[in-house]
Amino acid sequence: MEPEKVVQITPLIRRITAGNGSVFTGPGTNTYLVGNEEVTVIDPGPAMEKHIDIIIKNAKNIKQILVTHTHPDHSPGTRLLIEKLEIPSYGMITTSTKNQDTTFKPRRILKDGELIEEKEFTLEVVHTPGHASNHLCFVLKEEKYLFSGDHIMSGSTVVIGPPDGNMKQYIESLEKLKKHDVDKIAPGHGDILDNPHQVADWIISHRLEREKKVFEALKDVSRGTPDSLVEKVYADVDSSLFPIAKASLLAHLIKLEEDQVIRREGEDYIYDTVS
Ligand SMILES: [Zn+2]
Repeated sequence: MEPEKVVQITPLIRRITAGNGSVFTGPGTNTYLVGNEEVTVIDPGPAMEKHIDIIIKNAKNIKQILVTHTHPDHSPGTRLLIEKLEIPSYGMITTSTKNQDTTFKPRRILKDGELIEEKEFTLEVVHTPGHASNHLCFVLKEEKYLFSGDHIMSGSTVVIGPPDGNMKQYIESLEKLKKHDVDKIAPGHGDILDNPHQVADWIISHRLEREKKVFEALKDVSRGTPDSLVEKVYADVDSSLFPIAKASLLAHLIKLEEDQVIRREGEDYIYDTVS
């Protein structure tokens, strides 16, 4: 593993990637330091002492912590930073307990559209449910950067795992982000992305294409579950990834049910032929 280094992205933004790289986290979780005189930390990452020490060493004056969501690779470092610096953290919480960091206790729950106004910059809070119900993105107004957390990642497809994850909301949140005036995306994993609006459009069309496959597969057999449909819908994906694919498939089925295109009976999803 490479030593963690600080990358200056813009005059206001620095990035430190935590040493937790894996299949799920890509090169590792990105922690962003925003501001120079007074620093706001976005996503302290997992509870890794070494990573937290590097953050503290490089940000002399940390004022507060913002958290995009409470998955274990994004927020647990908050507790360590707070213990050392006695600073507040802000974000949203969720009632879901599966795969969640329950140690995250924000001083205040952030609201959609709220502005966090600092001396050097302003961040706008955008609630973007989909990957997680409590997912937030942040827009840095001065530099037109979108901190996208896990809503948009670089180099991999975002996992939408029901019940906390929701495909319909995920797509709606992408549409919502397109209303913001941003030039670049700073994701929770991977490198900076250009053309945010094109990226959002691409993800939406990619998801709808998959949704079409799910719909066609169910139409063929009339009744199915993620288990029975996965092989057909994800024929292009290695079978070792089927457990994750099944979560996404369920998310698509739930969306189709919400769109009233199909219906559900217990575990089974059903396509009724119109006579
Ligand atoms: Zn996540």
